[in-house]
Amino acid sequence: MAQPTAWDHPEPLAVSSAPVPHYGTGSLADLLPTLAAGMDVPGMSAAIPELAPADRNCVFLIDGLGWEQLRAHPDEAPFMNSLMGSSRGDTGRPITTGYPATTATSLASVGTGLPPGAHGLPGYTVRNPATGELMNQLRWQPWTEPRAWQPYPTVFQLAHAAGVHTAQVSSPTFENTPLTKIALSGGTFRGKLSGEDRMDLAAEQLAAGDRSLVYTYYAEVDGKGHRFGVDSDAWRGQLMYVDRLVQRLAEQLPPRAALYVTADHGMIDIPFDEQHRIDFDEDWELRAGVALLGGEGRARHVYSVPGAEADVLTCWREVLGEQFWVASRDEAITAGWFGPTVDERVYGRIGDVVAAARDDVLIVASEREPRESAMVGNHGSMTPAEQLVPLLQVRS
Ligand SMILES: [Zn+2]
Repeated sequence: MAQPTAWDHPEPLAVSSAPVPHYGTGSLADLLPTLAAGMDVPGMSAAIPELAPADRNCVFLIDGLGWEQLRAHPDEAPFMNSLMGSSRGDTGRPITTGYPATTATSLASVGTGLPPGAHGLPGYTVRNPATGELMNQLRWQPWTEPRAWQPYPTVFQLAHAAGVHTAQVSSPTFENTPLTKIALSGGTFRGKLSGEDRMDLAAEQLAAGDRSLVYTYYAEVDGKGHRFGVDSDAWRGQLMYVDRLVQRLAEQLPPRAALYVTADHGMIDIPFDEQHRIDFDEDWELRAGVALLGGEGRARHVYSVPGAEADVLTCWREVLGEQFWVASRDEAITAGWFGPTVDERVYGRIGDVVAAARDDVLIVASEREPRESAMVGNHGSMTPAEQLVPLLQVRS
């Protein structure tokens, strides 16, 4: 009988080889505290020291626009590419999103100024330790008390309390969502349907205070990327559109203002074949001993049936080999994937096993997650394509 070969069981990737996000020096969670520190909001510190203080600060978050995708498309995004550094000595540079690179996690990191291990939204779906059920943190299903889930104040609330004029300008549909409540509340939420209207109102809000902090958002680069892929005509069209939005806002900045353009994650296209899309629902080895599958294709939280944790870890490592970084919960926490510390209430939301994609592969779940499993563009893990987002700067 043939012995197992190295090909059958490739060496697992060392957990320590994962490129951990730059918490505390250059991650999404560091942006708002740095801006707020520059406006003398108490308790805030400037973790990104090269951002010179401004009295009026606007953050424009473009959903799904990674640094690498932006840099690869100078023709579609000439204005933003002109802010990416070198030629004019600007400070445009990439920062990391935090792990996982997904919208709910990143919006919470931006708004609270805290890493995922503290704000407690460490994935697209995670287990609620109180109920044992999966909770979708983007759609907030099933309903969970928002303030118990994420008890920290937002930077907007702290800035507002310190007398800074604060506003969020986004789609009206987000006004009363729990995610908005826990990540973006403080000051006034203003809903506008069109991108142009959002830019104009953001500029108006920025001018409305001597010190101001304004957040605005655009979603459809991400939407088209998921559906058609990065580089599809639809995605390129969105990139061209959002580049004009950035310019429109930049041209309306009031005096003493800084505009920062950033994103919640990048994106990577995954081919539709069995080599690149491992189907959890069809794979008995990956399913063995697993009670719940959380996260998303490139950033899985795996919750074991009690007592099977070690077996699940071994099995996932053997099956996935070098394609994923596979860590136990404690290994991922110790390696700093979720930030320097993990709050006690957050600990049980993290999988017994955490699997982050290194290659262009996904763990889909064709029965449990038919919609997500059909997406062309994906994100979640620590590769540069997903993890690096722009931090571009325009000053008046
Ligand atoms: Zn997305």
